[in-house]
Amino acid sequence: MQCKAGTGDNWNAGVPFQIKKQSFRLQSVDLAFKQLAILKLYDGKYYICTMNTGLQLYNTLSRKKESFQPLNAPNVGMYVCGPTVYSDVHLGNCRTFMSFDLIFRYLKYLGYKVRYVRNITDAGHLEGDRDEGDDKFAKRAKLEQLEPMEIVQKYTLGFHDVMRMFNTLPPSIEPTATGHIIEQIEMIKIIIENGYAYEIGGNVYFDVEKYSKEYNYTILTNRNLEDMLNNTRELGGQDEKHGRLDFALWIKAKPETLMQWQSPWGMGFPGWHIECSAMSAKYLGAEFDIHGGGMDLAATHHTNEIAQSEACSHHQPARFWMHTNMLTVNGTRMSKSAGNGFLPLQLFTGDHPLLKKGYSPMTVKFFMMQAHYRSTLDFSNDALDASEKGFKRLMAAVNLLEKLTVSEQNDFDIDALKANCINAMNDDFNSPVLIAELFEAVRIINTVYDGKAKISAVELAKLKQLIQDFVFDILGLKDEESYNLELNSVLEMVIDLRKEAKENKDYATSDKIRIGLQELGIQLKDSKEGTTWSKV
Ligand code: AMP
Ligand code: ZN
Repeated sequence: MQCKAGTGDNWNAGVPFQIKKQSFRLQSVDLAFKQLAILKLYDGKYYICTMNTGLQLYNTLSRKKESFQPLNAPNVGMYVCGPTVYSDVHLGNCRTFMSFDLIFRYLKYLGYKVRYVRNITDAGHLEGDRDEGDDKFAKRAKLEQLEPMEIVQKYTLGFHDVMRMFNTLPPSIEPTATGHIIEQIEMIKIIIENGYAYEIGGNVYFDVEKYSKEYNYTILTNRNLEDMLNNTRELGGQDEKHGRLDFALWIKAKPETLMQWQSPWGMGFPGWHIECSAMSAKYLGAEFDIHGGGMDLAATHHTNEIAQSEACSHHQPARFWMHTNMLTVNGTRMSKSAGNGFLPLQLFTGDHPLLKKGYSPMTVKFFMMQAHYRSTLDFSNDALDASEKGFKRLMAAVNLLEKLTVSEQNDFDIDALKANCINAMNDDFNSPVLIAELFEAVRIINTVYDGKAKISAVELAKLKQLIQDFVFDILGLKDEESYNLELNSVLEMVIDLRKEAKENKDYATSDKIRIGLQELGIQLKDSKEGTTWSKV
């Protein structure tokens, strides 16, 4: 049952309360989570109520903003398509993952208990979108003379490093396609049993025509099926498919295929789309709250995911489909194939012909957050320069917070500012509007610091909490300057310990410290003046 009880801390015992248009007096309230309350009313009964958070989010399915109510509050299930780990992630990929990090963080702030599943695609991804071309992992493995699983390991670790640099939170579960072959086979078997897929010579295809008779195949993008058929070319070598839009659920392995598994249809490997349907159902159930990914995935990958899930369990998998817009360079989508895909490391060091200089991870993150996730964002040196200035201004003000003196008098309404921040985020995670509100906080801090206005102890405490919540916990920014200062003091201590070890002729310890730091990317340099450190 759902009932609205206002927002925030308005759950006070004794206040009149409406459920199904009847007024009750609330006797006591037990807040299990910020989102869920068990209410004991004077009618003697207990009610479980969910709070209306006011969150609106844009649903690609309905093409409009909708009010968000989870299926099973306070739990929220969110599945996001993760990277294909056959090469380094570029900045465009990072934009999508940073956007969902923002969404994950804000849902948690609202008090939801979020299970965030983001997969790793480590098998079954062919170069073409229509089940043609080489396997991306096998091709890369040959090129780098490695095992496909070495490629997977290398680029998964690289992806995690980049996500850590951008201070994104790890998902709750990060399942891999190769770890869920059994689940994918089971799902394909059910789809065949239900009559929506067929096997030909070791390949299994999804029957789009059959499916379309009962379901709306183009529900996500609202395209015309006839047009799609007319625009889809027949592919040489794939004549065995019944229909042009049919796609592979299982692909027969060639003798030389490096990654292949046993299945009821012989040795082979799964098609790309089935992994997400199988893994989302396993960890979030046949029906869950949010499914996300980049906009480029909607037309094929997500359209096919919906079809697979419906054909298997007769359920739309996700109630909300969210798509992030693309990062572009001079108007062209950033991608590996277009050759404009900056690697995050190139951006940090400035080592790319299109870059004037390097930018810190938090500057890049701030730049991303200054655009709404559904707008395109064009990369340029000028835009990054502006973000660098803005981020420094924000951090400078944040660092003044501890230096402000409080007064009996107060000129500011921090609750109103907080309400504006919440309104911005409740409006489909509008981070640029949130940042504009945070610059109002910057103005308040600077005017109080300059002695031009006064703030009370109560309002200052609220302001500090607001900065903690919105700057650090929700936007996921961090102060790189103070981090470097902290690192410096820690390293000075370690350098002193090493010096002591050397003086005691404990060379084993002094070497251990030097080598250990080197492995962490920190180089020590001894000279007559003492020891200095630098990042490698
Ligand atoms: P991939 O590793 O190619 O499977 O992509 C991982 C994620 O990055 C997917 O959700 C893509 O939609 C997303 N993506 C790819 N290119 C861009 C881009 N230029 N801007 C934003 N997201 C992107
Ligand atoms: Zn996916």
